[in-house]
Amino acid sequence: MIDMTDATIEKWRFKAGPQAVRSLLAWFDREKRDLPWRQSKEPYRIWLSEIMLQQTQVATVIPYFAAFLARWPTMRDLAQAEDEQVLKAWEGLGYYSRARNLLAAARICCSRHGCQVPAVEKERLSLPGIGEYTAAAIGAIAFGQPAAAVDGNIVRVFARLTATAWNPADLAQRRVVRRLAESILPADRPGDYNEALMDLGATVCLPRQPRCEVCPLKTYCRAFATGSTGDYPGKPPKKDRPTEAWTVLALVWSGKVHVRQRPDQGLLAGLYEFDWLESASEDALSRAGLTAASAHIVPLGRQTHDFTHKRWIMDGFLIDCRQDPQRVEGRWVDAAELAALPFPTALAAFRQKVLELLKI
Ligand code: SF4
Repeated sequence: MIDMTDATIEKWRFKAGPQAVRSLLAWFDREKRDLPWRQSKEPYRIWLSEIMLQQTQVATVIPYFAAFLARWPTMRDLAQAEDEQVLKAWEGLGYYSRARNLLAAARICCSRHGCQVPAVEKERLSLPGIGEYTAAAIGAIAFGQPAAAVDGNIVRVFARLTATAWNPADLAQRRVVRRLAESILPADRPGDYNEALMDLGATVCLPRQPRCEVCPLKTYCRAFATGSTGDYPGKPPKKDRPTEAWTVLALVWSGKVHVRQRPDQGLLAGLYEFDWLESASEDALSRAGLTAASAHIVPLGRQTHDFTHKRWIMDGFLIDCRQDPQRVEGRWVDAAELAALPFPTALAAFRQKVLELLKI
């Protein structure tokens, strides 16, 4: 693996940078992806798309973006929405804190910034859910500011161009890449430059098999020249994702299902869920006093869900109670309400099975 020094990165910047940008923009003009949020530079739309695109594939975002805009076409409309409506509309996109932050940020923008996305980067950064990448992307695309939005994809592109083992997960290294990206940013087309890099990272400079033969930057790419694209970017040290085991209990009584709302803060905040027992196994049921004598128990199978920082393994059971289980917290809902409540993706398969069983 070649690891360039600061001096060689500088050399790449001086010798290749400006031509690479020209080639990149010419390619973008020919090949840019036709995406719904590119039909307008309106800051609210750009902000909404950037939040939805965090950790989420473009194809997944497209229908949500359209549905969101149809329902809340302006920042003012969104700021007036109910929390639960927004969480429901977000269902299936994952990372629900984004929806809560989006709503909180819309309300702040309406109280402090005249229902506009702030044009000043520092003010954008003070809004919930807006980090360096998103603030820079909105700045460049919506306001034409000379900012470079650098995420893992962009680190990969620059790591290969300069043959530097930058690690995309390292925030300090991302800032180095941001400085490099901004040092060659074309003053007249900052938004296009950012979108061109995003497109290149998403469609050509792919993580495993970069399509170098069609890449507009191959003449300027040091990893391509040395046949070492697989060495870049640098790999973070491997960590095992901790696993948590749970038993999910869909309690049914008199044709209704028991659900609880998760706390306002933390993982899957504000979403609804079934009851839980720690550890995933039928033993957990008998330890909790749930036996064939007290309830009719229907296994719902095992589901695994990966978050970025942990894995849940869940065994689900529908517990058709023979007597009122006297739940103090939460509420009992019928099938229609269950289908309408915002539920985490992790529990979607269990909810579907419960709905199918309730219909019978
Ligand atoms: Fe990525 Fe290959 Fe293009 Fe280099 S030539 S930037 S490795 S796609």
